[in-house]
Amino acid sequence: MKSLEKLIRKNIQLLKPYTSAREEFAGTASVNLDANENPYGDGLNRYPDPYHRELKSLVAKQNKLSPDQIVIGNGSDELLDLIMRVFCEPGKDNVIITPPTFGIYKVLANTNNIEIKESPLDTDWQIQPEDIIQQVDENTKIVFLCSPNNPTGNLMNTASIEKILAELNCIVVIDEAYIDFANQESWMNKLNEYPNLIVTQTLSKAKAHAAIRVGFCFSSKEITSYVDKIRLPYNLNTLSQQKALEVLSNPGPYNEFVDSILLERVELGEALTGLSFVKKVYPTDANFFLVQFDDADAVYKHLVEESIIVRNFSHAPGCSQCMRITVGTPDENKTLIKSLQKIAV
Ligand SMILES: *Cc1c(COP(=O)(O)O)cnc(C)c1O
Repeated sequence: MKSLEKLIRKNIQLLKPYTSAREEFAGTASVNLDANENPYGDGLNRYPDPYHRELKSLVAKQNKLSPDQIVIGNGSDELLDLIMRVFCEPGKDNVIITPPTFGIYKVLANTNNIEIKESPLDTDWQIQPEDIIQQVDENTKIVFLCSPNNPTGNLMNTASIEKILAELNCIVVIDEAYIDFANQESWMNKLNEYPNLIVTQTLSKAKAHAAIRVGFCFSSKEITSYVDKIRLPYNLNTLSQQKALEVLSNPGPYNEFVDSILLERVELGEALTGLSFVKKVYPTDANFFLVQFDDADAVYKHLVEESIIVRNFSHAPGCSQCMRITVGTPDENKTLIKSLQKIAV
């Protein structure tokens, strides 16, 4: 990798982050007259911990990382945005994405006026490392990979990712929102080998807490220091920090949810495969299926009329006639299949 300083935007390197008196004072004060808070209240009158100390130390311990290798965001979406803004100079730099993939990368790049280069997945929905490497130019700062990928559901080939990590001089983000549904360990275990690697995870999917907006960025302490530098100090509210601590301290129920979703995934996959107007059910390593129909729009319309919502991708590049269907509860999946069986062939 180039020296990290060549990849970080100049203004971010020079930036002096906002600090509050409370950040400068490390202990627990007995009198807090520094932040213009209301002194009365139930605890929520105080600003949240800007360092997420307790949560970060738990996440560090559970993942055998150092706390300074972790940044916690208001969902991983916030972290992806911060990562984009640390490295990419608007109007000059570019990022590479691998469509069909998670739509947020493109929206964030467009919002930040960052050029996008597209390296499409192949017919097995795998990344094409040679194509990615060939598309990189001197202004390419980040390659966004999603594994398991949304909306295709599959893990990306390990050797292909390793080739990209080893050969490229830019940052490689691996979005692992669905890693807990996959039979593969996290790329965070390779952080020591690859100084250009950033891994993101979230409490929104397997951990069943989309509503509290908590996501994680794992990387080298040098990279996380820059992401942290531009993070707003109070990005994670106190209630979310508390709830996230609860969830991660007591993972049992969530592991059970994942187990039952994985069982249900087999059932649902078989039921979908058995429908005559289903062309293809793509193999999945996540909690959803990408399914190709004879006429996706017609099926979508029928389901909407029955107040069943799935995600129609039939007009997305590379996803002709495809819809993405989340694995629900056994009841929800039965309702879906019953409704689909009503469609005349
Ligand atoms: C759902 C999802 C996320 C989660 O984003 P949050 O902001 O943490 O809720 C991230 N990446 C992908 C690919 C997703 O599908």
